[in-house]
Amino acid sequence: MEVKTHKLLSLDELTEKILSYDPSADITLLRKAYFFSHEAHCSQKRREGTPYIDHPLSVASILADMHMDTTSIIAGLLHDTVEDTETNLEDIKGLFGGDVAFLVEALTKLSKMQFKSKKEAQAENFRKMFLAMAEDIRVILIKFADRLHNMRTLKHLPESKQKRIAQETLDIYAPLANRLGIGWMRAEFEDLSLKYLQPEIYKNLLKKVAKRREEQEVYINDVSKKIRKRLIEYNIPGFISGRVKHLYGIYKKMLDQNIPFEQVYDVLGLRIITDTKSHCYEILGIIHSLWKPIPGRFKDYIALPKSNLYQSLHTSVIGPQGERVEFQIRTQEMHRIAEEGIAAHWMYKEGGRVLEKDAKYIKWLRELIQTQKDLRDAKEFLEVVKGEVVPEVVYVFTPRGEIRELPAGSTPVDFAYSIHTEVGHHCVGAKVNGRIVPLRYNLQSGDTVEIIRSPSHGPSRDWLNFVVTQRAKTRIKQWLKAEERKQSLELGTKMLETEFRRKGLSPKLMKSPEMEEAARKFSMKSPEDLLVAVGYGKVSVHQVVNRFLPEEEEEEEIVFTKPKKRKKGSSGISIKGIDNVLYHTARCCHPVPGDSLVGFVTRGKGVTIHREDCPNLNRLAVDDARLIDVTWTPPEAETTPAKLLIETLDQPGMLATLSSIISSMEVNISQLSVNTTDDKRAHFTIIVEVENRDQLSSLIQKIVSTEGVLRVKR
Ligand code: MN
Repeated sequence: MEVKTHKLLSLDELTEKILSYDPSADITLLRKAYFFSHEAHCSQKRREGTPYIDHPLSVASILADMHMDTTSIIAGLLHDTVEDTETNLEDIKGLFGGDVAFLVEALTKLSKMQFKSKKEAQAENFRKMFLAMAEDIRVILIKFADRLHNMRTLKHLPESKQKRIAQETLDIYAPLANRLGIGWMRAEFEDLSLKYLQPEIYKNLLKKVAKRREEQEVYINDVSKKIRKRLIEYNIPGFISGRVKHLYGIYKKMLDQNIPFEQVYDVLGLRIITDTKSHCYEILGIIHSLWKPIPGRFKDYIALPKSNLYQSLHTSVIGPQGERVEFQIRTQEMHRIAEEGIAAHWMYKEGGRVLEKDAKYIKWLRELIQTQKDLRDAKEFLEVVKGEVVPEVVYVFTPRGEIRELPAGSTPVDFAYSIHTEVGHHCVGAKVNGRIVPLRYNLQSGDTVEIIRSPSHGPSRDWLNFVVTQRAKTRIKQWLKAEERKQSLELGTKMLETEFRRKGLSPKLMKSPEMEEAARKFSMKSPEDLLVAVGYGKVSVHQVVNRFLPEEEEEEEIVFTKPKKRKKGSSGISIKGIDNVLYHTARCCHPVPGDSLVGFVTRGKGVTIHREDCPNLNRLAVDDARLIDVTWTPPEAETTPAKLLIETLDQPGMLATLSSIISSMEVNISQLSVNTTDDKRAHFTIIVEVENRDQLSSLIQKIVSTEGVLRVKR
């Protein structure tokens, strides 16, 4: 009977706790629920060997600590009965009413789900929680209490289970508790998770924090005394207490900022709780007049609450002896919200009226649930919710005073795109609080942002390096892609036009049916696509123009010219009549005599000769003055390297075939490499030594007409 006495005492404690905040609670029904649950679970034991009833009783007790209503506490006592025992929902409905039965049913559903994989389970679980929450937030709060007690007694489970449950708690429960503003529970979830996920780190931190506490106790007392004195002087009520950052918070800071424990300055802080908002600001003034504030550390979450409605003033100062001290200043009401969050709104309330603040929570919940409705895939939903829950946000204002919420780290460009895509595209500068700032400026809460626009400007690729919102990223990329195509089309058209004229053809051919035919030959969907490909440099302008040349002329190029014996002779390029200029051929396009050429005057290294269709020229062309017309006197039997890119089917003997064709023309190969791709293709890169363009053309023709060869490019 010893054990039973212990349990009865706990039940008494529970009722006492409830009566302290809800004197009209239905204690009879509560006791009935306790004995019902006890009876139902009587044959079960917890892992630790204690009677099972300890678990529901502890859950109920956590709920009472949260000042929940009796219905929730009764549901807490009964939450495992339907799942684990013979009990059915009808019994519960008959004995405890529809509300309790509804909560128990929702909780049973939540824990009963079957999953395919662990990862999916987690995501699905999270989604179901939101669904449950949509019906009644109390389901989640009871689930939280259940998980909290399980975490507190986690040491009795095997290690693999500990790790899985701890990870899930860290991934799902802690961020959700944070989002719902239940500060204490989030901290406990995180610290218990850390304890099981990183036991060594946890122990180590525990020790270090205790040590720091000991070292700084006198110091903190001294600081508090000074403030207390001023508060009395100014007649401001205020309760000062020491505050220790929770272990996981310290751990995360060390990780995020890559610093050792010793450099985490806000491990210990002071919290001052007063009565009114204006007293908060007065206390801030007192602190700043006593010690120098550290720039950038002051945060006014009273004027601009966090999205979970957290409010406080935060500041850090250089205290006595140059030590940093962090302060949080808030009213009692703010403190309650910071600790209890959403529970503060759902807890026992006389008359059950909904306050305006609660309406905000309900709105937020609705929005989250709306999001989840659009997402079929549980994993995707998890990503969204995690993203939704974790990041800090900044609140900024439009010049008209409208407030915008953006993720921390957002820039004026993110802001511009959040207003409208067009505003983003034409954004050339920004004013923050009236001053011009760089576009990569990090917006701070409270900033008023004005975007300077110029209709003739577009986004820059560089923006992608600093914008943080997905919206801005997507819009910029779309614009760049369209712009690139536009430019390539223009360039390709111009190149083709010039080449047509040079060959005595009319540029009108570009609009002819032959052009459609040419596009098909190059596997392009339309002539426009072909022009874009030419502009990009994917297809050479000569390849296209060749299709329009009369047959004879094409044949002429196939004429087999027997290479002459190598011998030294006068050769070189001439520029506007000046001969023998220092020159070398470009390695990017390997021009050979006979190619249309352009010279690029280098600084100090003479002239580099490029093929006119070399894609690199576009880059070099920024400095037009350095591009010159050149003619290249065909060197007497001097050979020139030319690069061939040959795509073939990946079949045996290909290499041997190619090299025998090349050597049959008495052309030397100076370099050769090959790689094969997944789609059963081989790509040869061969540098051949040729005398001129004609020889190269015939070589290309010969290779192209070989079986298995798909494409030859220079
Ligand atoms: Mn349970």
